[in-house]
Amino acid sequence: MKITKRISAFLLSMVLIITIIPMSANAINNTFEISSAEDLKRLSELDTDFSDTKVILLNDITVNDGDFSIDKNNNPLYNGSSELPESFSPVKTFNGVFDGQGYTISGLFLNSSLFENCKDAVIKNLNVVNSLVADKTSESTAVICSVAENTTFENCYLNSYAIGSGKYTGGLVGEALNCIVSACRNEGSIIGANAGGLFGYIKNSTIKFCYNKASIWGYKSAGGLAINLNYCNVSDCYNSGDVNANEKDGAAGGFACYVTALSKETYGSTIKYCYTAGDVIGYDAGKFCSNYSGDIFAMVRVYYEGKEVNDLSDADSDAGYKIIDQYEDYKNYWEWSHSGISAQDDCIERLHLIKVDSLKHDWCPEYIGFGDYVGDAAGLNRGYPQLTMFHEHVWGDYKCDSAGTETAKCLCYNCDGINTRSHEHVFGEYIVNEDKQTETGVCECGEKYTRPHTHAFGDYMYNNDADCVTDGTMTAVCTGRNCGVTDTVNDPNHKATGHNFSDWKSNGDAKLFANGTETRFCHCGASQTRIAERSAFIIVFFDNIYKLIKDMFK
Ligand SMILES: [Zn+2]
Ligand SMILES: [Zn+2]
Ligand SMILES: [Zn+2]
Ligand SMILES: [Zn+2]
Ligand SMILES: [Zn+2]
Repeated sequence: MKITKRISAFLLSMVLIITIIPMSANAINNTFEISSAEDLKRLSELDTDFSDTKVILLNDITVNDGDFSIDKNNNPLYNGSSELPESFSPVKTFNGVFDGQGYTISGLFLNSSLFENCKDAVIKNLNVVNSLVADKTSESTAVICSVAENTTFENCYLNSYAIGSGKYTGGLVGEALNCIVSACRNEGSIIGANAGGLFGYIKNSTIKFCYNKASIWGYKSAGGLAINLNYCNVSDCYNSGDVNANEKDGAAGGFACYVTALSKETYGSTIKYCYTAGDVIGYDAGKFCSNYSGDIFAMVRVYYEGKEVNDLSDADSDAGYKIIDQYEDYKNYWEWSHSGISAQDDCIERLHLIKVDSLKHDWCPEYIGFGDYVGDAAGLNRGYPQLTMFHEHVWGDYKCDSAGTETAKCLCYNCDGINTRSHEHVFGEYIVNEDKQTETGVCECGEKYTRPHTHAFGDYMYNNDADCVTDGTMTAVCTGRNCGVTDTVNDPNHKATGHNFSDWKSNGDAKLFANGTETRFCHCGASQTRIAERSAFIIVFFDNIYKLIKDMFK
């Protein structure tokens, strides 16, 4: 195992904690634990094959503790000044698993994405906030990954700036191919020649439960979720940020700038249960998209609203769309549905508002789905349904205290949930006291309770003591803990057996004219003696003569 050796050598020279887990086929063999900015830096310096390595964050990591912002010309600022901290070096190529475990990296300043290339990788449960990527050289850039292939992104939350000057600038990935993206959310401004909330260019990928809420500024082209959305299946996603393409000829699309689909024969690209609600401003602006190409894509229950500001009237025709079910004016549709025309259930199903589909993390019962339509007054997300993390606490063991309350903590990562409920003492098993007449139970909280003890005798066992004249007995022990008191009673199944006598035996005391006695014995020692009838010698003599004569005349 080359990699193990290399990493072990690395372990000797560095303080990075590495756990070697026993090897199994196609398994993660190495775990990198990152608990400081230094550890993260060492990871970026480690140019290795990560294919059997899992990198995990053990806590939140703050690289710089100042605040990043941008000036009115979209130049980066740190604590309000153009003097920026030292740039963090990116991980060149990553092909392992990076699990942030729900922890947050903040204060990163990068001249490139955190990961330049992701191939066959998994990036999940990672939050990156108050960070800034200012990339003046790469063709594609983003906060997390410049170019990704065959990579899964799950549950990543971004509230950072990405400023790019190349072909594609996105929040999550600059350029993505064959990726699976779920529950990734962007709330940080994305600025570039071409800019998209989560993706620059994305192709042959699945995207679900994702949103962009931030303003997108693409000088040439801008899209709420992506600049180019090519041959992708997208569901349960929304954009509620404003999308601006402010150069001459700039193209802006509320959901995506350009949508490309498969051939007429297959609805390979389907966009369903999505909406876009931001204002769209551009020379060639469309509430949903600026331009589509390819033949057909399917839109199922897609809603779009927001202002569309064109410098030129939109000349696009709808000829290439296969619109199955599409609504403009989401809000009114929702209200119309709720005014009693449709049944509530039907409405919920049609608008896909609540928990219709869910996504659970592998490590906690958190799932994501659209929340309720909250209305304008709430001032949240322009009143539109938001993707919300629904968290179901998993309470651990309740610990009680004598104050009459008990509490349990949620077992989930990063959850501070505590549940308190009134405590009812549970005295558990009572222990019989020395007097054998009372028993005492102790609650986990220390409270004791003593009550009278009633013996509870268990199974009676025969004592094997029945004999010829005495009935057998049986005994049971009290099942109360520490009691030991026994109870002995007659055993109805083992009565006295009665004597079992041998044959009568003469005692040899007969006389000429007087009968003798005979005796019989039982194994228990008991005996019986009686007169042996016709045992006097004279009678025995005549009895024998009589028998002899009788035999002669037979
Ligand atoms: Zn919880
Ligand atoms: Zn959880
Ligand atoms: Zn108690
Ligand atoms: Zn007892
Ligand atoms: Zn006997």
